[in-house]
Amino acid sequence: MLGLMQRHELLISSIIQHAARHHGEAEVVSRRDDGRIVRTTYAALERRARKLMSVLRDLGVVFGDRVATLAMNSDRHLELYYAISGMGAICHTINPRLAPADIAFIVSHAEDGVLFVDACFAPLVAAIAPDLASVLRAVVVLAEPEDMKPLALPPGMALHCYETLLADARDEPDWPVFDENTASGLCYTSGTTGKPKGVLYSHRSSLLHAMAVIMPDVVNLRATTRVLPVVPMFHVNAWGLPYAAPMVGAALIMPGRHLDPVSLLGLMDGERVDLSVGVPTVWLALVTHMRQSGARFETLRRVMSGGAALPRVLVAAFSELGVEAAQGWGMTETSPVVTYNGPKPATATVDHEARLDHSVKQGRVLFGADVRVVGPDGGETPRDGKTQGDVSCRGHWIARGYFRLPESEIADDAWFPTGDVGVMDENGYLLLTDRAKDLIKSGGEWISSIELENIAVDHPDVAEAAAIASPDEKWGERPLLIVVPRAGHEPDPEDVRAFFSGKVANFAIPDRVIVAEELPHGATGKILKSELRKAYAPRD
Ligand code: AMP
Repeated sequence: MLGLMQRHELLISSIIQHAARHHGEAEVVSRRDDGRIVRTTYAALERRARKLMSVLRDLGVVFGDRVATLAMNSDRHLELYYAISGMGAICHTINPRLAPADIAFIVSHAEDGVLFVDACFAPLVAAIAPDLASVLRAVVVLAEPEDMKPLALPPGMALHCYETLLADARDEPDWPVFDENTASGLCYTSGTTGKPKGVLYSHRSSLLHAMAVIMPDVVNLRATTRVLPVVPMFHVNAWGLPYAAPMVGAALIMPGRHLDPVSLLGLMDGERVDLSVGVPTVWLALVTHMRQSGARFETLRRVMSGGAALPRVLVAAFSELGVEAAQGWGMTETSPVVTYNGPKPATATVDHEARLDHSVKQGRVLFGADVRVVGPDGGETPRDGKTQGDVSCRGHWIARGYFRLPESEIADDAWFPTGDVGVMDENGYLLLTDRAKDLIKSGGEWISSIELENIAVDHPDVAEAAAIASPDEKWGERPLLIVVPRAGHEPDPEDVRAFFSGKVANFAIPDRVIVAEELPHGATGKILKSELRKAYAPRD
């Protein structure tokens, strides 16, 4: 017999409608390109997002169309999130840090008809526009009319000013209602080899993911939280925060393109931010700045980290500054959050050192998703914290294929292979040890590059580190460590090697330590191990 409960579609527009009705006064604060701070509320933002739907319609956008954004975190980008998905089109967020040729490829592949762009990325658009003449019909610059600059576009491609379009637009009284399984967002991954691949989110998956992220053992978002997402809205929907924050009426503080430590700290203190979310590279720069300047956070109390392993030393540094840092794990294909390192009765220890040891784990599985670690025999590995295997996952917000790649599709209940390698402990915490392609195997023994990197950045002279496999006649591969010095320090390679003694098995101690001025980073801040292997450990 069927139940007698109401059924409403899980639509992204319902989030902003709720925020406008019940948290109408809650703030969205944005820093513009020129450094100015502007303020709006969820009530005002919802009104503008509805108007923006009529702008989109006038630009010829219809249900199911892809609409691109090339923009940093701001109230305008948030309006676009809601208006594009809200009208049934697909919000395609593009990472401006990608190579221009990759951006041109993904705009063509997605067939984006309209592109909304921050003024600071106008030169990038000018460079790729000639290659997009057959796809793109309009470019809208997210600016006031007085800030519009000339931008050369091919014939047939219109240039518009965002605020002018909005000022002239009709009011749109209602948000349309449609099937919750409709596609809402598109994000191309850059992490893999080959051409970027598109991950298509649905209204349902985005909503359920955001609800899971809000939970107390995950980001713990509340109406009183003031959250600063450093993670960009073009990287896996800023980990769901643009949906999660309005759901609970948390204030969103948007840093725009000002992501250097001084600007971030100023915005955090000035806007009474208590939670911030981003990748370890950003936190490393921030903590280094705090150390060098002797500054203290006025209001920041919590940091959520993801995208790459969170080193123990960073958690310790934040702790000294009165901030609790914890990590989550996921990927573009998983919306992204699948695990989060929240405490359990068995791990909620008061022993500071034990807590720091535990903090390097990627965390335990959120309700709504599931993870398994699979050994070479195809079965799940024992939960002993030691036996390594391939990590796969499934759930309400895990992709089952890539956009326009039908051969990539798997069944609804199949496990998605993440390409990550890890171990599961007796309490259900996942610890990643490597990416499958980054593994180091020496004389039949696996060596975890993440573990070596975590130890290396604990060394007082080291700011950043990457461990890669170097081909070796006798052992097959040996670990090679590349370190970047802390400002004003000169790491001695032998001293760094000695630092590993007693911390890892002898066979895992890197044979060579190379000091480099910097490490190559990809468009989402990850260290490009492939570049390092080419430069330092070439294979014939
Ligand atoms: P992306 O799709 O660009 O978000 O990259 C996803 C990949 O980043 C994952 O498959 C992991 O290899 C890595 N990653 C994400 N979060 C973490 C984490 N907390 N610790 C270690 N690696 C991570």
